[in-house]
Amino acid sequence: MAFTLPALPYDFGALEPHVDTQTMQIHHGKHHQAYVNNLNAALEKHSELAGKSLEDLLTNLNAVPEDIRTTVRNNGGGHWNHSLFWQLMTPQSGEPTGALMDALKKSFTDFATFKTQFKTAAVGRFGSGWAWLVKDGDKLSIVSTPNQDNPAMDGKRAVLGLDVWEHAYYLKYQNRRPDYVDAWWNVVNWQKVAELFK
Ligand code: MN
Repeated sequence: MAFTLPALPYDFGALEPHVDTQTMQIHHGKHHQAYVNNLNAALEKHSELAGKSLEDLLTNLNAVPEDIRTTVRNNGGGHWNHSLFWQLMTPQSGEPTGALMDALKKSFTDFATFKTQFKTAAVGRFGSGWAWLVKDGDKLSIVSTPNQDNPAMDGKRAVLGLDVWEHAYYLKYQNRRPDYVDAWWNVVNWQKVAELFK
């Protein structure tokens, strides 16, 4: 079964003014769709991989034939990361609560310090990539990855991720990645993050 582009869980304009409509349309309809198409095209060359889940492929990249390994890493990673990213945003944001907030405080002293450190990781990622909050036992830690790599490739489970490729923010924020990060806090789906943290 070929991989398919998941529908957004909200309208393209739902995250305005923080993430603009046109960025969402191009990001989802062009960029994410291209990752799906390229992944499917690569997998067509190896019928023995048919039926493997994305997680299977990406957490065992060494088992992927070498001629398509980089393509699967980049485009499979792109499909995985974006499928998660859309769910991590919502027009009804708020703040983390319960066990998630406890873990954030335990790991980073307080919520404000967590946000500062996460922003530093997002802004400091040179070129294209992602900032992540990952589950680390009963605590949480911040990592960043280049390109479309996912923490799962290193055996870590992401509970929050921020796309800092220029395509994610350039139309509205141009070179001001820090402003994009500041605005993005207004649309984080903390309920989804709590679900992933459980
Ligand atoms: Mn992206």
